[in-house]
Amino acid sequence: MTFYDAVADLDWNRTGEEIYRKTVSDVEQALNRHNPTIEDMKALVSPAAENYLERMAWQSRTATQKRFGKTIRFYIPLYLSNACLNHCIYCGFNHSNSIRRVILSDEAIKNEVKVIKQMGFEHILLLTGESPVHAGTDYIEHALQLVKPYFQQVSLEVQPLSTEDYMRLQKSGLHGVYIYQETYNRNRYTHYHPAGKKKDYKWRIETPDRLGCAGIHKTGLGVLLGLEDWRIEAVFLAMHLRYLEKKYWKSTYSVSFPRIRPHEGSFQPDFHITDKQFAQMIWAFRIFDNDVEMSLTTRENSVFRDNMISLGITSMSAGSKTEPGGYCQKEELAQWTVNDNRSPEEMLKTIAQQGYEVVWKDWNDFFNPIQYGKI
Ligand code: SF4
Repeated sequence: MTFYDAVADLDWNRTGEEIYRKTVSDVEQALNRHNPTIEDMKALVSPAAENYLERMAWQSRTATQKRFGKTIRFYIPLYLSNACLNHCIYCGFNHSNSIRRVILSDEAIKNEVKVIKQMGFEHILLLTGESPVHAGTDYIEHALQLVKPYFQQVSLEVQPLSTEDYMRLQKSGLHGVYIYQETYNRNRYTHYHPAGKKKDYKWRIETPDRLGCAGIHKTGLGVLLGLEDWRIEAVFLAMHLRYLEKKYWKSTYSVSFPRIRPHEGSFQPDFHITDKQFAQMIWAFRIFDNDVEMSLTTRENSVFRDNMISLGITSMSAGSKTEPGGYCQKEELAQWTVNDNRSPEEMLKTIAQQGYEVVWKDWNDFFNPIQYGKI
């Protein structure tokens, strides 16, 4: 049984009705519960909880500091390729968009790594579009092997792969995999993903199960905010997280909530989420799950990011480029427009001003049993 089976009978609209029916007394019960349930999560993201935002922020801050201290973990994305065979209607790398496609060569990857290392990063996230033809498992494995000697943690955000492929990549130093469902609304999923392998809702939503079976250390989940009602997405995401934590308890988890940003193409989000609602979602997640890593990317503007440093977020990217080869040269190939252009040094100062410390490295290869032949 996978998460796909676990939620097969759940109706999107009915879940929405349950959320919108929650009362202030449900919210108070959720805020007072030691181990919040999915019903509590529904209350925390409901309109009724809007009267409790100050308390939610305070509880989120307290829970985060208790579990993570006053720290923000730094990572940086490296886009390896923008070739993609999918047709996601909200993305600049969409196969139908006539942009120049780039697949970084060995030399280009090494040049990007040189620039990134000068910034001090130890955690890197390798990204590709989803094109098994141009950037399949062989290419990803080779890129991992090229990059790994320079970083303590290398994670991937690439096309969903098989359990066997994940196990194979783990031998080259793969630490974590970020795989965003984009939307959990099954009925609307194919509207946003009309063609290509990503059209297969089941294959995508079962990817974290395959990661769990492969024993990958960290799995990152997320939804793309703007596609559907954020309150319902948050509840499905919370269900997914709890299901995985129970079933694959040896892994660690991360959640992220990218908001749709301007890009090549004309897609306009149907479901706008305000900063206040976005903050409610972040605080609800922290109260629901004290242990999960929560990440905020440079899609968000500097004011919002600064406000969230002490209120629940534990991981941030900085100095990001979202085009392949972007650290060495400036080209108009970005997947989306960066909203916070500050350098890592500037971010570091801002974080320190709030009494927080940047964590560049929280892992050592010594802990990776596969690389060191303990398994
Ligand atoms: S979101 Fe990912 S899979 Fe979809 S078009 Fe963009 S790069 Fe391709």
